[in-house]
Amino acid sequence: MKYVVVSGGVISGIGKGVLASSTGLLLKTKGLKVTSIKIDPYMNIDAGTMSPLEHGEVFVLNDGGEADLDLGNYERYINVTLTRDHNITTGKIYQHVIERERRGEYLGKTVQIVPHLTNAIQDWIERVAKIPVDDTDEEPDVCIIELGGTVGDIESAPFVEALRQFQFRVGPDNFALIHVSLVPFIHGEQKTKPTQAAIKDLRSLGLTPDIIACRCQAELEASTINKIAMFCNLGPKQVLDVYDVNSTYHVPLLLQKQGIIDLLTRKLALDQISISGRFR
Ligand code: ADP
Repeated sequence: MKYVVVSGGVISGIGKGVLASSTGLLLKTKGLKVTSIKIDPYMNIDAGTMSPLEHGEVFVLNDGGEADLDLGNYERYINVTLTRDHNITTGKIYQHVIERERRGEYLGKTVQIVPHLTNAIQDWIERVAKIPVDDTDEEPDVCIIELGGTVGDIESAPFVEALRQFQFRVGPDNFALIHVSLVPFIHGEQKTKPTQAAIKDLRSLGLTPDIIACRCQAELEASTINKIAMFCNLGPKQVLDVYDVNSTYHVPLLLQKQGIIDLLTRKLALDQISISGRFR
């Protein structure tokens, strides 16, 4: 199983969901079976009890699970049917660990965020990623994991730590990280400092981006891309320009033109996955 994690920096609502779904769609066009998991670092067990005025509409899954709208994006873009377990919230994972503790499954140990909660997150991801989500009933090849919120927030800290450990659990050939950042346009200039700071935060938590997707109003200038690449320790081809488009259904094309599939294929050795007999 290959994992592509999509995280975000600078501000919330930066477009992680759209980027994650678009990446999933492009991987699917390569003939790969794609699934996705959304991590929501809030204490609610699910989005069902949250005001739509505050949080947006609830998306109801086939099994009755009430989830964030992003799960709807995944189902539409990737053409899959997800379950309530494909949405992990802080509330859900704590409830899971506390129920195990009440059953005595930790054998008298002091139950802690690290390693018990972080292990539970990793086990959950590995278990759910294997669930068949399309009509072939086969195990997926790639799992896109969207980490909600902003890296550096106190809320997402256990998930960030779990993902840091997870990259070693699954190995470097099976783990890629896309970080979505913001490049604001201020006083006639594209500003790279927020992205530099966001990547510094990410690295300080032990995660290294393979791709930086920059949200911006208009196309990025070559000098902006080069500056981000240099300060963030990546090649310029690993810095993608995700400018504002009229319809978010244009985003997959935007990413494809900039070679996201080649980047992920190289990082994750996707060419070694046998897709014979499947649509290519
Ligand atoms: P997040 O998952 O980071 O909260 P979303 O993917 O839900 O963000 O996107 C937030 C908003 O931005 C949505 O209304 C989405 O339609 C819009 N959006 C995302 N990417 C783009 C883009 N490239 N151009 C225009 N609007 C976008």
